[in-house]
Amino acid sequence: MLNLHNAVFLRSAVKEADFPDDDLPQIVFAGKSNVGKSSVINKLLGRRNFARVSAQPGKTIHINYFLIDEQLYLVDLPGYGYARVSKAEQQRWGMLMEEYFARGLLTLGVQIVDIRHKPTRDDVTMAEWFRASEKPWIIVANKLDKIKKSQLADRLAEIRQTLLLPEEVPVIPFSAEKGMGRDEVLAVILEHIGKDAHT
Ligand code: GDP
Repeated sequence: MLNLHNAVFLRSAVKEADFPDDDLPQIVFAGKSNVGKSSVINKLLGRRNFARVSAQPGKTIHINYFLIDEQLYLVDLPGYGYARVSKAEQQRWGMLMEEYFARGLLTLGVQIVDIRHKPTRDDVTMAEWFRASEKPWIIVANKLDKIKKSQLADRLAEIRQTLLLPEEVPVIPFSAEKGMGRDEVLAVILEHIGKDAHT
């Protein structure tokens, strides 16, 4: 049994030595800034204002580790794709990704995209990191509440094509605002760590 409400912030990692490397599963969240990554994490955990909402551009690039019920790590990768980010910051982001992915610590990747828009070049780059990891990975298509039902099939198809998703990678429509998709995403996470949840 996993109690999702029992979530604590563990640390901000800025270099490889900061990564925990015990045997606990690591569920890794990635997405471009403002896609709603913090909101999705908060919704999944059933917490308000837990993962910080809307971080300021230009802050130090770091990976946030949360410990969930002492049984798994929720790993919050730095948001990417700020419009006015410097070359140096882009390089810093790439280096930190390289360090994290090279360690092979992830159990499941959760990549968040905006269901309203074609994925950006940065989204495609992030998808390449997950694909290259050869670990299971899912796409959470957030802000479902902002599109019409009639648009859904086309939106999902464009996301799948643009990110060049392998067939086994699911795209799960989600709304951090309204809660749609929560049960499905939690089910996938729990399946990969082999537990039931108390939500
Ligand atoms: P982050 O930068 O990716 O962590 O994004 P935030 O969680 O701070 O969300 C960015 C903005 O999008 C905020 O104004 C949220 O309220 C809004 N937002 C996030 N998820 C949703 C959603 O599912 N639907 C709607 N309508 N707005 C959302």
